[in-house]
Amino acid sequence: MFRHKPVWVNIDVPTKCYTLHRECSYTNRMCETPYKGVGKLKRDGGWIRFRNEDIALKRQQEEYEQYELIIHCK
Ligand SMILES: [Zn+2]
Repeated sequence: MFRHKPVWVNIDVPTKCYTLHRECSYTNRMCETPYKGVGKLKRDGGWIRFRNEDIALKRQQEEYEQYELIIHCK
């Protein structure tokens, strides 16, 4: 695991999923839509970049504890 590397989190409000990605086909294809942002949250959530995995996991515990945590790719 590369804990010092930046990660992307897909925060999905409708399904209450907090999905952590490093780099995969999803992060390569992410794009802004009317309801999902990239780098910011919209009505249905969005893709947020964190400096490393620990910070992303801490944010999940602090603000998204009702969301299901999914580690998509390692
Ligand atoms: Zn992934």
